[in-house]
Amino acid sequence: MYRSLMDRQRSFFRTNKTKEIAFRLNALKSLQSAVKQYENQLIAALKEDLNKSEFEAYSTEIGVVLEEIRFTLKHLRSWAKPRRVKTPLTHIGSKSYLYSEPYGTALIIAPWNYPFQLAAAPLIGAIAAGNCAVIKPSELTPKTSEVLARLIKEHFPEEYISVVLGGVEASEALLQEKSDYIFFTGSPAVGRIIMEAAAKNLTPVTLELGGKSPCIVHEDADIKLAAKRIAWGKYTNAGQTCIAPDYLYLHTSIRDSFLAAFKEAAADLFGLNPLENPSFTRIVSEKHFLRLQSLMGDGEIFLGGGTDKKRRVIEPTVLTNITWKDSIMQDEIFGPILPVLEYTNLDEVIEGIHHHPNPLSLYLFTSTPAVQEQVLNSISFGGGCINDTVYHFASPHLPFGGVGSSGIGAYHGKGSFDTFSHHKGVLKQTNLFDIPFRYPNAKNGLKRIKMFLK
Ligand code: NAD
Repeated sequence: MYRSLMDRQRSFFRTNKTKEIAFRLNALKSLQSAVKQYENQLIAALKEDLNKSEFEAYSTEIGVVLEEIRFTLKHLRSWAKPRRVKTPLTHIGSKSYLYSEPYGTALIIAPWNYPFQLAAAPLIGAIAAGNCAVIKPSELTPKTSEVLARLIKEHFPEEYISVVLGGVEASEALLQEKSDYIFFTGSPAVGRIIMEAAAKNLTPVTLELGGKSPCIVHEDADIKLAAKRIAWGKYTNAGQTCIAPDYLYLHTSIRDSFLAAFKEAAADLFGLNPLENPSFTRIVSEKHFLRLQSLMGDGEIFLGGGTDKKRRVIEPTVLTNITWKDSIMQDEIFGPILPVLEYTNLDEVIEGIHHHPNPLSLYLFTSTPAVQEQVLNSISFGGGCINDTVYHFASPHLPFGGVGSSGIGAYHGKGSFDTFSHHKGVLKQTNLFDIPFRYPNAKNGLKRIKMFLK
């Protein structure tokens, strides 16, 4: 179904045009001006799809993409240069280089929760590295996906960058065709399907997946600040953020003071009656709304609990008296419900997390460096913050990605350029002389080789 599109992209890639640095820089500048031109349409579409406020639409989608383009434009020339690396004594006379080359056509499959940002940010990496790209945005946010398709169509020829609209069937049809790189953001379950499809052609993949991201609040945390930063990270986009704190591990000794501060922080940020807050993001679909509603029966409701089915809004909610056995602890929540587990000893926390798949993110609130090191040394997770939530995502100097079932590979900043590039190792040999002992007929060849290779 998409054979001809992929073939046209392959032919265009073979012209070598996309590899020219000037071409890549121009494409990034076009994308930059297109995003600026479409800013209002994107904000309106995000409002229609998810009721995102203008503040959230700009700060978590449009602004993040513009900043990523600006950073890439600034550094691309130096990233793209062949890099000289060391040469060992055994290779005397030669020089060694790493050449970054694009893969060809990159297939980018995106989810609905940040429907613009999670489609556009990988595209920046694909362009920077010199690839062509086909983007398949989410069918659950149709307005934003349509604006993205128009924006791309207006500024780029199809044989270079193209958007394919549609649902699972469109994704499946695209996966039937050979692409040279697959960049997928979505659930671990679909991630497995993507990897299986990629395996048929041995196509390399980046899988940006999800999972349950813990947030640990230790006894010596700055309670007020922790409460504010956690409430913000959890309830932004109504908790529909892959790196949102999924659940809290709260030290029993600060339970009451922390929960009181958290209640205050949530009210400050999202209002005393969030169901009436016109800018609180809605749940993407009825299916997800019903799934989340069914999780509210676990434990005790400490905060929130209110829902509006017609508008698909769920209040910022906190559930206490939760254990790992509760249904809310079985899968990623992906909504504004925060279950609270309590602990007295950090070892319980480490044990508890160890018994579950590697988190995409982990957040730890503590003032003690030794506690920070203990957690960093004993738990494997994609990335995270000490004394904050979510913020690591927006740094171009920190490659973002998961580990184990939360993902494979990473991107952002130079990480994106590296992800979409193959780094070709090249040795340039001298013709001025020829070291004889590698040849089988060299006198004392083996003896000399043993001097070097030991
Ligand atoms: P999803 O896996 O259902 O869908 C993602 C994309 O895959 C969509 O474009 C969809 O059309 C396509 N798709 C769905 N089923 C498919 C199939 N069987 N074959 C081929 N393609 C298929 O994910 P979602 O519901 O859109 O997003 C939520 C998930 O994404 C959560 O698990 C979340 O943690 C994760 N996520 C991860 C990140 C990250 O950066 N790591 C970011 C956002 C979301």
